Amino acid sequence: MNTVAARCLMCGKGYDVPEDHKDFKKLKEQNKVEAVFICDFCNNRVRHESEEQHKPKKPM
Ligand SMILES: [Zn+2]
Repeated sequence: MNTVAARCLMCGKGYDVPEDHKDFKKLKEQNKVEAVFICDFCNNRVRHESEEQHKPKKPM
């Protein structure tokens, strides 16, 4: 399978992103030895954290 080497901006882990990944094209277009992206794990974490922030805070 076609992959592109990319490093996650948030956790710093290196990944071989397969061509069926949603960011594959974007990573290829960066045309770097090692492209940068946000891995799925960090994506989920960020989404979860922003959801937490949108929750109304209960008054004490
Ligand atoms: Zn990550």
